Amino acid sequence: MNQDFEVVAAARNWRVDVEQHYTPSQMIGEVFGSDVLTLETLRQRLSKPMFKSLQATLERGDPLDPKIADAVALAMKTWAMDKGATHYTHWFQPLTGGTAEKHDSFLSPSSDGTALAQFSGSELIQAEPDASSFPSGGLRATFEARGYTAWDPSSPAFIMRHANGATLCIPTAFASWTGEALDLKTPLLRSIEALNKAVVPALNLFETPVGRVSSSLGAEQEYFLIDEDYFYRRPDLVMTGRTLFGAKPPRGQELEDHYFGAIPDRVLSFMTDAETQLYALGIPVKTRHNEVAPGQFEIAPIYEQSNVAADHQQLTMQILRNTARKYGLVALMHEKPFAGINGSGKHCNWSMGTDLGDNLLEPGATPHENLQFLFFCSAVIKAVDDHQDLLRISVASASNDHRLGANEAPPAIISIFLGSELTEILDRISSGQGGRGQVAGFLGLGSSVLPQIPRHAGDRNRTSPFAFTGNKFEFRAVGSSQSISFPITVLNTIVADAVQALTADLKAKLDGGMDLQSAVGELVRATYDAHKRVVFNGDGYADEWHQEAEHGRGLLNMRTSLDAIAHLTDAKNAELFARYSVLSDRELAARQEIMYDIYFKTVNIEGETTESVAATQIMPAALAYLAELSGIKQGKAAAAISEEVAAAADEMYDAVCKLREENAAEGGEEIHDKAHHMQSNVLPAMQAVRLAADKLEKVVAAKHWPMPTYRQMLFVK
Ligand code: ADP
Ligand code: MG
Repeated sequence: MNQDFEVVAAARNWRVDVEQHYTPSQMIGEVFGSDVLTLETLRQRLSKPMFKSLQATLERGDPLDPKIADAVALAMKTWAMDKGATHYTHWFQPLTGGTAEKHDSFLSPSSDGTALAQFSGSELIQAEPDASSFPSGGLRATFEARGYTAWDPSSPAFIMRHANGATLCIPTAFASWTGEALDLKTPLLRSIEALNKAVVPALNLFETPVGRVSSSLGAEQEYFLIDEDYFYRRPDLVMTGRTLFGAKPPRGQELEDHYFGAIPDRVLSFMTDAETQLYALGIPVKTRHNEVAPGQFEIAPIYEQSNVAADHQQLTMQILRNTARKYGLVALMHEKPFAGINGSGKHCNWSMGTDLGDNLLEPGATPHENLQFLFFCSAVIKAVDDHQDLLRISVASASNDHRLGANEAPPAIISIFLGSELTEILDRISSGQGGRGQVAGFLGLGSSVLPQIPRHAGDRNRTSPFAFTGNKFEFRAVGSSQSISFPITVLNTIVADAVQALTADLKAKLDGGMDLQSAVGELVRATYDAHKRVVFNGDGYADEWHQEAEHGRGLLNMRTSLDAIAHLTDAKNAELFARYSVLSDRELAARQEIMYDIYFKTVNIEGETTESVAATQIMPAALAYLAELSGIKQGKAAAAISEEVAAAADEMYDAVCKLREENAAEGGEEIHDKAHHMQSNVLPAMQAVRLAADKLEKVVAAKHWPMPTYRQMLFVK
């Protein structure tokens, strides 16, 4: 078999298979939002009073009147059927981290033998999917399998298309019959509410006009593309999403020729197709480029309200995965599909803003705006320092463990990069330079307005897990495959908590007769002094930083995800989530249980896949080559190579025996113990098998090697 030739042929064929789908003029102008049920469409299809009432629900969270629900359902149905939809689904985000949908046809049989289109208000508002097959972490006993989905009117309904039709998707929350959240959306919505409740009173103190406050999010998705033919020849990729074997290729990212390089033709055609579908779904994709590793790419939208952004992020992953197939490609979302090569993250750009369009993290043009900016900036610094653990936990997974702390990914220690300008400003406030008494000075800085802080100040410091980038914070530790909902839920909640504390302080100072400028000055100084240990602008990879962070500054270093997950239910965290009504104790405990469970299952599958591939594919290849070599009676080379192959095969044999034992062992009764068995025993045993297998890959004749190699997979053209 000559794999190289076969794949070259396949790669050529895609050109023939794929006709041109779109003309550029269709792309943005006509397509954008065309499959989204916008408010404007609903306005056109509803009577004025009905629409007003719906708007009140959307804006103020008033309960939806059932009569109006019927009218909205009818409007939705006719719109969707006009668009070619035959089915509808409550689309939700269970605790697996993916999405779930169960389609129902709009058609119901009627007594005269014909079919009628039906979709009532009650079907729009609520459905009852059987919840028994979704993880609940003990929130639902099997005898009460019912769960229900409830319409989230704050994220617009949309049409998902496939080759033979279309489905109306209604974003929904998913809860158990007892009212406990079984999904990722519910706590996110609650955290947005918590942020709103905390920030509005702060803005009132600044006399800044505001109706509502929400957070904005823009998520940059990194992913790899490999040829579909290769994918199916790699059982490890098919089973686990990452390669469990593979020697480092002679050329990796050393030449630095991939990052921002010219995008290969096939990839660009794929991207354009995917983007056009995303436009139709109203997802404002803006940026695309090659990433650092060969075969690695990125797509980023313009930021949106964070609940909508979280829904759109799930859709983006789905569309990328589906569309890649049309081009003979597979999109890999795993955090570390290839060992020794850059991993993939999903930088979450987060900020908060008002319904009047003010970004609260934008340094302003007036002293008043600057005061407010420094206040909110201090709140974020405090939030990150107080809750380093929660940020670390929110990105914990078996797959992200391979990425954090390796090749251009941030370390597991949570710190903030502020950039030199902002750090200097805060340092000067902290050291009281210039003094409060200086009349002309803004917080004693000698100027009435803060210097413009460049958006990309030192932004290429990829070693920081949490960076200020001019008017937003970028949470970079988030993994490429994960849902962004929980990281945003944590961010919203911890910032709400810090803002609430600082607002109480500020109010006390103002009530005590202090002027706003002095009060904010004192507050910023005290907050920064108390929390500046979490600010770090240096190299997050350096060993000295790990020493200093842990021992000098007392920052947390939760190296592995299991270290982190253990702290999710700490009293501090349970109390925080309960205080802001984001997650109850039971909901939090359930999430911890599910995180352990997913960790356990992920590594368990990897362990068994490693064992099976090594035993049934790699070992036979090594033995076949040995048999072939044994037929060569002469020569130094044959003898030496035989010896080398035999030694690596023996090493792998022992390692596979050990792995087999560890795979068979239970590790304990509790999910916590099972997960730790995976981390402490199965992962090292897998690694030993891999080391030996990778040695074999370098010496066994290519014609015997059972799988495509890194060299073959990584250079998509
Ligand atoms: P970079 O690519 O250097 O990280 P960009 O300016 O391209 O920086 O922004 C990356 C992401 O940040 C985009 O999704 C963008 O829409 C988003 N973003 C920009 N401003 C904000 C903001 N105020 N709040 C949230 N996200 C933002
Ligand atoms: Mg970025």
